[in-house]
Amino acid sequence: MDDTRRRTRPIRQLHHDMNDRPFIVIWEVTRACALACRHCRADAIRARNPRELDTEAGKRLLDNIASFGTPRPLVVFTGGDPFERPDLADLTAYGTSLGLSVSLSPSVTPRLTADALTQLREAGAKAVSISLDGAHAATHDNFRGVPGVFDDTLLALDAVRDAGMRLQVNTTVTAGNVLELPLILSRMLDAKVSLWSVFFLVPVGRGQELQALSATDEEDVLHWLHEVSTLVPVKATEAAHYRRLALQRARSEDLDGDFPPGPLRRQLCAATERLLTGKEVAHRPARAPMDVGSARGFAFIDHVGDVYPSGFLPWVAGSVRERPFTEIYRDSEVFTTLRDPDALGGRCGQCEFRTVCGGSRSQAYARTGDVLSEDPTCAWVPATT
Ligand code: SF4
Repeated sequence: MDDTRRRTRPIRQLHHDMNDRPFIVIWEVTRACALACRHCRADAIRARNPRELDTEAGKRLLDNIASFGTPRPLVVFTGGDPFERPDLADLTAYGTSLGLSVSLSPSVTPRLTADALTQLREAGAKAVSISLDGAHAATHDNFRGVPGVFDDTLLALDAVRDAGMRLQVNTTVTAGNVLELPLILSRMLDAKVSLWSVFFLVPVGRGQELQALSATDEEDVLHWLHEVSTLVPVKATEAAHYRRLALQRARSEDLDGDFPPGPLRRQLCAATERLLTGKEVAHRPARAPMDVGSARGFAFIDHVGDVYPSGFLPWVAGSVRERPFTEIYRDSEVFTTLRDPDALGGRCGQCEFRTVCGGSRSQAYARTGDVLSEDPTCAWVPATT
């Protein structure tokens, strides 16, 4: 085993009790959006909902999030498109004044201008995430439902960096775009992204029309992602078993023998080698995944104030209009149930990795209708089954 792997912790644990406070809170500030993405979780709509949390309610929510104390949760304003809200810079500045680290996840539309980004940076925003779902215009524009968005997205990557904020890129992987991952990786290296977040399609909202990967293909992609995370920081979203895989790889004395690549991984590796030949790339230790998941350090608040353990899991835990978010996170039945690894069923319930993995509860619910069932997107067969 090489020294780098020995020195690096395979999974990063939170420095605080996840039962007490989240690590990250995603607030869907609006569901309005000019795009019509084919995998949209939110089934985004063109006009803002009059029942959205207004500026004052939003600020009360931020006060409440800040009251968790230090270390304060990271806050991400998502949508829809956050730029549909005229008070976006005001909310960003207010959250920042409370000591919250605020990031944004806007859509690439004509509202995403250099001036708008500068205004957000001046309001205190730390990072912006942009979606790139294909290496080619045809793939990305088809996902987004609007021709020309691909070219605008590449310009947006530069604009975020030029505005002085950290750049995260989000890519939703499906059976239709998986072979483009090596070329997207190459673009991530050129764009010098701070984080590449790869989402594994959860079949909810408009995403039900797309084809997700099989569990064995997903295993191949996760191994490839772990390997290329020495080139660019990578995060796997709605693929909790990436943590299991990171642990297994760290314990392995013979990676190729223990985890022989399947056909998809061989294709991804060959394409990566071809694309990176001649490119100057710096290697660092593989980025260790964080022990954070639905209700376990993570919470989602929708545009009208309903609280969920994930944006992909329609199990409402309460409303911030009726009960403080701090209480919902700590005490609601939804959140406490999902934090209990002994409540899990199927393979996840019997799995030796259930305390660090536990499966994606969103994937389990979307595919079986039972939020506590095994996660069908994981190929692992626990030793005790
Ligand atoms: S069986 Fe469940 S708990 Fe075990 S690694 Fe797979 S998803 Fe995680």
